[in-house]
Amino acid sequence: MEQLAIGIDLGGTNLKGIIMSREGEGRHLTRVPTEAKKGGQKVLENILTLVDKIVQKEGSKDNIIGVGIGTPGFVDRDGTIIGGAENLPGWKGMQIYEPIQQQFGLPATAGNDVTVTALAEWRFGAGKGFKNIVCLALGTGIGGGIVANDLLYKGSHGMAGELGHICVETNGLQCNCGQKGCVERYASATGIVELAIRVCQELDVKQQTPFAHEVLRKPQNLTSKIVYDYVKRNDPVACRVNELVCEKLARAVGIIVNALSPDRIILGGGVMMAGQVIIDTVSRYVPMFCWPEVWKRCDLAIAQLGENAGVLGAAGLVFEDFTDRRILEDRRDDV
Ligand SMILES: [Zn+2]
Repeated sequence: MEQLAIGIDLGGTNLKGIIMSREGEGRHLTRVPTEAKKGGQKVLENILTLVDKIVQKEGSKDNIIGVGIGTPGFVDRDGTIIGGAENLPGWKGMQIYEPIQQQFGLPATAGNDVTVTALAEWRFGAGKGFKNIVCLALGTGIGGGIVANDLLYKGSHGMAGELGHICVETNGLQCNCGQKGCVERYASATGIVELAIRVCQELDVKQQTPFAHEVLRKPQNLTSKIVYDYVKRNDPVACRVNELVCEKLARAVGIIVNALSPDRIILGGGVMMAGQVIIDTVSRYVPMFCWPEVWKRCDLAIAQLGENAGVLGAAGLVFEDFTDRRILEDRRDDV
């Protein structure tokens, strides 16, 4: 019998849903508005509506083994949102498994929306074929996810993978999480822009390059894409910014390498539109921040799945939690 999973990706504006086979073939990609401002109960109702639409399109529930949800914040083992979803007012405290079970008779599972993208990359993207991978998503902030021994590592309360808050500078820039010097303050899209503006403001007039002129003229228009467009043109100031960004990122990568010794670390998110230049620069700095013997057995790669990684990962979580995890655990019990 074909097994199918429903995956839901909870975004600030839209909820995206898909039905997916074990091999990663998706169909019935559907969107409904999140209506985040109307509160947690409304968001949950919209999730139920979306699941219903997908079931209607499929025409039968017979082969569906469960519903997986990727959500901002942290989900405890029983399906309660325990925090970290500030962009969704009233979402904290919601219980999301029971209503799905009640309305559709299907089991539900959930994980952090960025963490589950690591599962998608491991199953279908740049992490395919490896046993242990780590993903860093460089977007507005930096999120992360860990696949260890072929399973997504959620930690005891669904909080594992907050790799953007690895501290890379003592008494560094203040972060929203309360710490100072988190890597996301330097190597997220937001962090890169702030860093670039600071670097340009500290230059003497003589040191200014075309990049610095553009930044200083309209700093509010700067994006990480503009920074990397100038890096590609070898603008010395833009290249200096890239070095600073990648050195900070390499510190975080080094800590991850020493702690987990993964086969591969995958960098994704909007910043990675810049591509290979970031991989090459980070790779140059990593040996300064970890044990070279461990780093020799790891590499850096660019994420492959793009914007659908969230729904694919959420659906992948269903296969992991309701079939694969049991098979793997049974096998371990046999040993
Ligand atoms: Zn932080």
